[in-house]
Amino acid sequence: MDSLIPITWKDTASEEEYERARVGRVFNHRRPERYPDAVVEAENEEHILQAVQVARERDLRVSVRSGGHSWAAWSVRNGAILIDLGKYKHIELDEKTGVVSVSPSTTGNMLNTFLRQKGLLFPGGHCPDVGLGGFLLQGGMGWVCRSWGWACQYVKAIDVVTAAAHQIRCDENENSDLFWAARGAGPGFPAVITRFHLQTRPLPSHIRGSNYIFPKTHFKSALNWVKSLVPNFDADTEIVCVGLSMPEYEESVIMVGLTTFKNSRGEAVAALQPAEDSCPQGYFERHFARPTSLQQEYIAQAIANPEGHRYCSDNAYIDNSADVATVLEEAFTTLPNRKSFALWYAMAPVSQRPLPDMALSIQSDHYFALYTIWEDAKDDDLFQSWTYNVMMKIEPSSVGQYLGDSDFQVRSTKYWGEEQGHRLMRIRRKWDPDERIYGYLAAGDESGADGLRNKL
Ligand SMILES: Cc1cc2nc3c(=O)[nH]c(=O)nc-3n(C[C@H](O)[C@H](O)[C@H](O)COP(=O)(O)OP(=O)(O)OC[C@H]3O[C@@H](n4cnc5c(N)ncnc54)[C@H](O)[C@@H]3O)c2cc1C
Repeated sequence: MDSLIPITWKDTASEEEYERARVGRVFNHRRPERYPDAVVEAENEEHILQAVQVARERDLRVSVRSGGHSWAAWSVRNGAILIDLGKYKHIELDEKTGVVSVSPSTTGNMLNTFLRQKGLLFPGGHCPDVGLGGFLLQGGMGWVCRSWGWACQYVKAIDVVTAAAHQIRCDENENSDLFWAARGAGPGFPAVITRFHLQTRPLPSHIRGSNYIFPKTHFKSALNWVKSLVPNFDADTEIVCVGLSMPEYEESVIMVGLTTFKNSRGEAVAALQPAEDSCPQGYFERHFARPTSLQQEYIAQAIANPEGHRYCSDNAYIDNSADVATVLEEAFTTLPNRKSFALWYAMAPVSQRPLPDMALSIQSDHYFALYTIWEDAKDDDLFQSWTYNVMMKIEPSSVGQYLGDSDFQVRSTKYWGEEQGHRLMRIRRKWDPDERIYGYLAAGDESGADGLRNKL
């Protein structure tokens, strides 16, 4: 069977070839010391099915890679057949329904480049090269998540290869428990997704952004200002506050950014006007309603998250009742180097609406994440411990974490509501009783079918 698929075995491939297959598509250059037995570079659904069959015959486990952007390289696991979907590319649009079918390694940028010609958009990840596979399984904080909703809410159906090596469709009517799990299980989904069927949105013709740059000493007043804008702000506008370094300034700064997606210049300017009218004093720079595009935004994201670097990321949903600016002050004002950044991302009103019935079940008005970025392995301890120490002080004010920016080996907390967490683990046990599909990568990589503890 394995002679029929593009498979690289650890024991027989050259070291160079095996290493390329093992981590060549892993975004984070802080490479893991984990070694799969083999890597299958699937080019179609048949290869995926056969890879699962080979794993069953040889009693190996299965891990999956779509875009390779999970920070902790969840796809790279000891004793696994790693199914790498990077060479399996498929995009097909049903123009009547606006439903697009994609292979999981399709990135947000690839999909939106295709959809743009049709006047459509999909709210995929902000970074151009994040794979839709990992992104959608976690929920997906895509463009204007705060009111367009979680990207996984646009999933109409999925096609999967189960742990028992069956090809099935999952949607609201068929295999609906797996469909429920696919929207929020993250890297513990107990099957291999071969295709997503996604509802698209009309592409707004005018994207504009305002930026307000403050010295870091003004962090609290800047965050409190932008936080106060959120409840009444335009629903097609993404709102962030970022602690970062800019070449023009010696010290790190605070950037409040508002990006609106509208259909005319007038609508875009009107949407952004309330921020322009109320911006507090003390800023270094302000830029109002500058034209931009998804392409330009992708480029900016790629610059902020450079390739070939070592990363450590952590995050928290901050309790709505907390004094958010005080809780986050240290993170935003003590960044350990000029590449790292801190993000506050407004989630209201989506965080105020009841979520559909799906595994994704935790959110708050305030999403916070740290992205610590460096180049040299000798600095690993320094940057990882800075991140950990800052997060430990924030943890008591948090109601849980987003799977997407988490590393359960380092810190584990709450990822789903109580009931949803139990239901998810039951679904995992039902569809993968033998723990064929590698799940959550917790400390020691011993979390089996029972998954994560899901406790604050
Ligand atoms: C630079 C950067 C920017 C990011 N920006 C955003 C953002 O804007 N919004 C956001 O929500 N997240 C963002 N993320 C987080 C990102 O969504 C997650 O890291 C996600 O897991 C990446 O998906 P992937 O397919 O690229 O990763 P992979 O490492 O390939 O996949 C992660 C895991 O998901 C599971 N998986 C993936 N595909 C399948 C499949 N087909 N079947 C079954 N299981 C599968 C596997 O367990 C796999 O190991 C960003 C990450 C990076 C590195």
